Amino acid sequence: MKFLSKTYLLAVLIIGCQGNTDQAPKPRNIILMIGDGMGLSQVSSAFYYQKDSSNFYRFTSMGLIKTSSTSKVTDSAAGATAMSTGVTTYNGAISVDPDSIALETIVDILSLRGWKTGVVSTSSIQHATPAAFYAHNKSRRNYEEISLDLVDSNIDFFAGGGYAGLTQRPDSINLLDSLSAKGIIWDTLKLAKSTDPEEKYGFLLSEWHMPPASDGRGDFLSNAVKLAIDYCSTSNDPFFLMVEGSQIDWGGHENEPDYLISELLDFDKTIGAVLDFAERDGNTLVIVTADHETGGFTLATKDHDYNKIEPTFSTTGHSATLIPVFAFGPEAEKFTGIYKNTAIFDKMMEVVGE
Ligand code: MG
Ligand code: ZN
Repeated sequence: MKFLSKTYLLAVLIIGCQGNTDQAPKPRNIILMIGDGMGLSQVSSAFYYQKDSSNFYRFTSMGLIKTSSTSKVTDSAAGATAMSTGVTTYNGAISVDPDSIALETIVDILSLRGWKTGVVSTSSIQHATPAAFYAHNKSRRNYEEISLDLVDSNIDFFAGGGYAGLTQRPDSINLLDSLSAKGIIWDTLKLAKSTDPEEKYGFLLSEWHMPPASDGRGDFLSNAVKLAIDYCSTSNDPFFLMVEGSQIDWGGHENEPDYLISELLDFDKTIGAVLDFAERDGNTLVIVTADHETGGFTLATKDHDYNKIEPTFSTTGHSATLIPVFAFGPEAEKFTGIYKNTAIFDKMMEVVGE
């Protein structure tokens, strides 16, 4: 009897598998969110400095990454390159290896497979973190070349600051015209109200970086991300989206707790919008992490009064502390454990299939 029932189960399994072969499941969408400079104390501030419940509570899987580049302490360029390409490189490198040879990024790979791809940041779009997802350059400071890579890239949707990088150029080329020539619908004043999945879009809403959240940026980040998700998810193709809270890092460099915390809360709010979509969709993996910690930030006791917190910094640079990784959605459990930042790329590639 045992044998018979096993045979029966096997038959059911085989029929079941065959039934699925002509309808292969759609690959998972991936939304990778990078809080630049966001260490554990930065994340912790979301639990002490807002009335609302933090969206970080909603994650189901957590891990830690070691973020070193070829230096012990990474910068944002090497940190983003590790996640976009899976390769450890030198500080300043934009998706090139230690010999400055261009590396294939996750955007390069997935756009060739017909995925929709998008990048949203609160810095200029040419800044190190977003650049590592569409450009290849030996130096993060070569903004003119990075802007050329943006125009030539396969990215379907981008939003951030930095239109001056396309218009104020020593070579006198107006790259906004080049975007139009490539059929990319762009705007330098506002986000579109609605989008067509057959088109490509670029929104660069300030000359260089977007203003801080507390100084007029409003809900740009969450609105741009919602628009990007609307755009990507109305297409029949799977999508990859990189979202950066760029200025958490800058609050750290400036040792300005109010700046840092307001940027972190804006990022928390954006995480909420992303998780709302991922919950509804059921086929989207959300990963939230950082390239490194900035400022040696802590929520220290003030004057030994254990009822008072005084945000404190130990450096105006980056630190080597391990960085938390939060994951939600199908295959989120892959992101538990302690591993190198390059494994973020490896794990995303495992999720999408080689
Ligand atoms: Mg950045
Ligand atoms: Zn930094």
